[in-house]
Parts: sequence; structure tokens; C-alpha cells
Amino acid sequence: MTSTAAVSAGPGSGRTPADLLGRLRARGEADPVTHVERVPARAGTPAPWPEWAPEELRAAFARRGVVAPWRHQAEAASLAYDGQHVVVATGTASGKSLAYQLPALATLLADPRATVLYLAPTKALAADQLRAVAALELEGVRPACYDGDTPRAEREWIRRHSRFVLTNPDMLHHGILPGHAQWSGFLRRLTYVVIDECHTYRGVFGSHVAHVLRRLRRQCARFGRTPVFVLASATSGDPAAAAGRLTGLPVAAVTEDTSPRGGVTFALWEPPLLPRDAAAEAADLAPVRRSALRETADLLADTVAEGVRTLAFVRSRRGAEVVASNARRALDEAVPGLGDRVAAYRAGYLREERRELERALLYGDLLGLASTNALELGVDLIGLDAVLICGYPGTRASLWQQAGRAGRSGQEALAVLVARDDPLDTYLVHHPEAVFGRPVEATVLDPANPYVLGPQLACAAAEAPLTPADLTLFGDGAKEAVDALVEAGALRQRPTGWYWRHRERPEVDLRGSDGAPVCVVEAATGRLLGTVDGGSSHFLLHTGAVYLHQGVSYVVDSLDLTDGCALVHPEEPDWSTHARDVTSLSVVSVRSYVDAGPVGLFLGEVDVTSQVVSYQRRRIASGEVIDTRPLDLPARELRTVAVWFTLSPESLTAAGVDPADVPGALHAAEHAAIGLLPLMATCDRWDIGGLSTAVHPDTEAPTVFVYDGHPGGAGFAERAYGTAAAWLGATRDAIVECGCESGCPSCVQSPKCGNGNNPLSKADAVRVLDVVLANLPR
Ligand SMILES: [Zn+2]
Ligand SMILES: [Zn+2]
Repeated sequence: MTSTAAVSAGPGSGRTPADLLGRLRARGEADPVTHVERVPARAGTPAPWPEWAPEELRAAFARRGVVAPWRHQAEAASLAYDGQHVVVATGTASGKSLAYQLPALATLLADPRATVLYLAPTKALAADQLRAVAALELEGVRPACYDGDTPRAEREWIRRHSRFVLTNPDMLHHGILPGHAQWSGFLRRLTYVVIDECHTYRGVFGSHVAHVLRRLRRQCARFGRTPVFVLASATSGDPAAAAGRLTGLPVAAVTEDTSPRGGVTFALWEPPLLPRDAAAEAADLAPVRRSALRETADLLADTVAEGVRTLAFVRSRRGAEVVASNARRALDEAVPGLGDRVAAYRAGYLREERRELERALLYGDLLGLASTNALELGVDLIGLDAVLICGYPGTRASLWQQAGRAGRSGQEALAVLVARDDPLDTYLVHHPEAVFGRPVEATVLDPANPYVLGPQLACAAAEAPLTPADLTLFGDGAKEAVDALVEAGALRQRPTGWYWRHRERPEVDLRGSDGAPVCVVEAATGRLLGTVDGGSSHFLLHTGAVYLHQGVSYVVDSLDLTDGCALVHPEEPDWSTHARDVTSLSVVSVRSYVDAGPVGLFLGEVDVTSQVVSYQRRRIASGEVIDTRPLDLPARELRTVAVWFTLSPESLTAAGVDPADVPGALHAAEHAAIGLLPLMATCDRWDIGGLSTAVHPDTEAPTVFVYDGHPGGAGFAERAYGTAAAWLGATRDAIVECGCESGCPSCVQSPKCGNGNNPLSKADAVRVLDVVLANLPR
């Protein structure tokens, strides 16, 4: 434990973020900081109100303190007002709301019959937006939230009278579209559809939402309406393409952020490697680096000791508790009582408790807060002196959302990203351009996924018979999907179109549950704790598994797959459990390929069969393996999309990879490649799987497969194929730049490996990737 500095230096004694950072990094022997970026303060660029914006609306905004829009807001608003679909993709707190409120409300004021539909990914955000629109006090707009919590009694009033309805994609899918007859008055006058935080619609969920939006367009088209779509997105790679894929429409993008911001000194921080003997002694998977949690706790203690108001973001609830309690202990050792000024904050607290913590932090009664991502949406806690980010939060949008909590107006703030032992984190702290440069990470989705398209077409047909014109609307694969539904007896073809044959509506889950969800039930009380999707249940809920629910630990007594139910009891053992599986894969078809001499790159359909066969119990503190226990679970089949590359055995030998080491080389490259895919496409490593083999029966060569972990694919493998040279180049760099000797969780080990991370060869993985990169066209 490092000693903490004396409490609070006086004014003028080096309180700039750079000075503070200097003291933080001087604690240990090796300098953990790999890069410091000064993100300069920016003055905003205002623009005049667009001429079409009515005086009444300008006055309403002025009363709320908005005297003029920023240029990007005015630009996006005018595009939308002119009837162009537009996505505004700018930073956190850049005022994206005004960009859609302006054209939408101007239209509502000009046309007393017009209506607007607003979609948010969470109820909290919709409620937030409702407050903002209601506060403008515009006559006749009557904004209202319509979601699962809306009382029955109010629903009819909203349908009839509200002209600005705020809801979410689930309500649109389950409530509004199936009940379109009751909504016809609203839909036939719909002028704008606003899609807020549209980058959250990705993968299978995003693919479903894409079709829900097409169903909405179809209902509007029946009344001759073509509403304008206005989307708000976090900054990302190619937002126009992502928004176009989501809506199925041509979308213009506004990406230049002209709002003002405070300056931030942003440091990338890599925790040091542990002394070699300690690492060597430790068992399987034991950390080789100092953990990001301990590093963050020390940093939090040090900044709080200096009187700096600091927010630490930690990915898990348990992690936030650990960071807060370690920081408290360190502070109390330095100055008894000082630890009281640090607290943990997480989802699950009551609203009043959260407000109280936020207040204490804003007024300085509390100096340090360790939080999960609970603050990310809708809550207005900004203006901290320092923000610590423990582990890359998965997307650049989240990273900047978290860093954006730092900085009061006119004051510089400090942000620190502390790398976890993960290949993506390793890459990022050594490649600042990936954090601060132009974003490459794109929001991907795949509306052509047959497992999404079929069910969505069924929903559409149940709402109104499908016509040949609709097949164009629903895009690639729609005809095949309709034929399959006819074949299955779900649709009947008549001269006028395809009709839904059943009385009940199809039941379709937008999250694309992979098999029916499994209920987690506390055995003693019968209380339902939650559900786990079928695809993960074998890994997470097998007999003996330690299952975490909202930070509380349970152990599974039994998993009944027939009833879809796992019985658990509360218990906090000092071990964790890790399921192991055996996987086989066969190639169904090749969609596209690149022939690059000794190297081949492919995209295609595959069948993956996997079976969870055993689990390991490991001590939490040391990572030591206690034992391995067998399990008796059925195999699971998955038809999905994969990207794969092959190498000729000769090219590997020429690169110096001994034939005996080929399996370990490919396996290590596979793990790191999966770890780096989120750099190219917003996904996490649980969305994707992999398989590597020294010779595969379908390719007859050494092969590494990376596949989407969802039936029919979700767009991740496709994006990997499209960016293969950049993706595998980053994978190579992450491995090379990890300072460990023979592989660690920061480079080639994977926490979800079905083979217990064996065999793995770090050095040979680099040789494999060098061969691939030398041959693959850039
Ligand atoms: Zn390593
Ligand atoms: Zn593995």
C-alpha cells in the first residue's frame, strides 16, 4: 500500500491536473503512465436561430437559459426541418436534444394536428426528456411518457391527446404497433420520429429494433405518412451508415461538435507487472499485473487525501465496493476519520439515497465516490475535479461519457484510464490514437439475420398482411423468410398478400433470447431473482455455479432445463466457478473470401456445437485451482456467421513456428483477436466465440475461427472480416506490447476459455499474425 500524501495543499501549491498527475505517478518505481493527452478547452460556436424557428419557441428556450443554439444543433435541426433524415453524433453534454426538439416543436406549433414520437433506450432517459419538453410550457403539445408503467386510465388520454409521445422500442414493439388501430389518429399525423442514444441499438437487439422501425414506417405509409427520422448518437465510426442500417433510410450525419467544454488532462495508466517470483509462484490465471481495482483504490485515496473531488468508475458492483473500502482503509491509516469521505454508489440504491450521495459529493462533504456505470444516463452529476476509469468501459461512447463527468466551467480536470488485464485495455494504453483520434469502432447490426427477420415479419404480418412492396422495405432475405414462414404454416399466401394464420400474436423478444430464458429462483423462499438467457445458462447456472445477482452471491443447487429453472441459495464461498466446454464447428457455406497466397480469409455460415462438460473452482484471492468437477449437460447447436483465417503449414514453419507449437500459437492468437474485436465493433467478448485448430476438416489447414455468439449472427464477424487487416494488426500489437513473459490475461489468456487457457504460446501467436498480416491486402 502506498502512503497517502498530507491532506490538502493550500492554494497555489501545484493544484493543476498536471501537477496532481505528476505526484500520482511518482509513487512507484516504474512510471505506470503510458500517455498524457491534453484535451484543450473549447469555446462554443453559437449560430443564429434558424429563420423557421418561431418566436414563441425561441422565447421558451430563452426562458430555460438557451439564448442561441450551437452551430451543430442549428445545422442538424435545419436538415431535419427540410425533411432530411439526420443523425447528430457529437460528444456527451453537447446538447443533442435541442437538435431534435427544435424542428419537432416548431412543427407542432405550426401545425396543431401534427405529432412526434420519441424513442429512448431507457425509461429514465424518456422521463428526463419529458421533463425538458414539459418545462418549455408550450401550449397544445401535451408531452407524455407511454411505457409499461403508464396507468391504464391514462393510456387512452395519451393516445388521443398527446402530440409528443415518449416511449421505448419495447413499448413500440409490444404495445403501439400491435395496437395500431387505436393509434391510427396519432400515426396518420406523425411528422418526426426521434431516436435518442441510437448507438445502444446494436447486435441482435439493434437488428430487431431496425425491423420494429420498418414496421412503424409501414404503418405510417398506410396513411401516406413518411415521418422524418432524427437520431442522436454518441461519437462513433461512420454514424451515417449505422443510422442508415438502423432505419433503412438515407441519413445525413452532423459530427462536428461546436459546444464548449472544459480542458481535461487525460492519462493512460498501465498497472505495473508484479515481481517475477510472485507471478511464477502463482497458479493458473493468477494476475501477473497489479490489479486495476487496487490501483484505482490507491489513486482514489491519493486524490481524496489532496482534497480533490474524485469519481471512480468501476465495471462491477462488487468492484466498486472493493475500491471504496480499500481507499477508505488507506485514508484512515493516514488520517483517522478521513476514510468517511469516500463512499460506494451503485444501481439498486433508493432514489433518495442516490440523491443524498450526489449532494454530498457536489458540496464536498464527500470527496470520493466509487461507482458502477449507474450514473451514465440521465443523471446530472458533473463538474468533478478528477475521474478515474477502472478498465475500459467497452465503448468509446461510455469512456467519454465517464470522462465527461470531470471539469467545472473554466477549470481543468484530470481523467485517468486504468487498464485492466485484458488485451483491449493493453492495446488502448499503448495506442492513444485509438482513444483520442478518429473513432473506428462502429455500431453494427444485421437486419438480414434470418433469426431476426423471420419473427419480425411474423409480427408485421399479424399487424397487417404483407405485400410484395413490404419485402423491399424489410430488405435482403425478406422473401426467403416469408417463404419459410409459409412453409412452417405461420403465413398463408393469398392473391392480396401474406396473412398471419393464428389468433394469437407472435411472441418475439427484442433481445433475441437464445432459447427460452432460465429463471433463477431462491430455493428457500421461492423468490424469483432474475432470468438468464438460454445461451448463457449452461455456463452461469450449472449445478455448483457461483452466481452473482446485484452484488449478492448465490450457489446453484440444481438446474432444471425442462422447467427452465435454476434453484439457488445465498452463499459467499471463497472460490469462483469457471465452466469449461468442448466446441466443434463445421462450415456450412462461404459468403465471401480473400485468397492471399499462403493465407486465406473467409466469411460464412457455420454450425457450432458446444457442450459444457465440467467446471473448475478457483480461490478468489490467489486464483489457485481447487478442483475440476464433471457436469452432465446436453450439447447446444448454433447456426451463425463466422470469420476465419487459414495459413499453410509451410508458411508457419518458415516463420519459425514448430509444428508442435501450432495449436498453442493459434489458440493464443484466437483469444487476443476476440479480445480486440470490440475495437472495431461495439460488442463485448461474450457476444463472440472462437475456435482454433492445427487442422480443420473443412479447411484442411491450420485455422482460427471467430463467430457471433447469437443464432444467425449479429454483424460482429462481418465487421471483423471487413476490417481484418486493422483488427489483426491491433491484435498483434496488443500481444507484442504486453510486457509479460509468456502470456497473461492482458494479452493471450481469456477468462472464458473452455480449455482452461491451455495450450497457449504468446511468442508464436505473434509469428502467426505476422504471416497473416504480411499476406493480407491492406
Ligand atoms: Zn501478457
Ligand atoms: Zn481458449
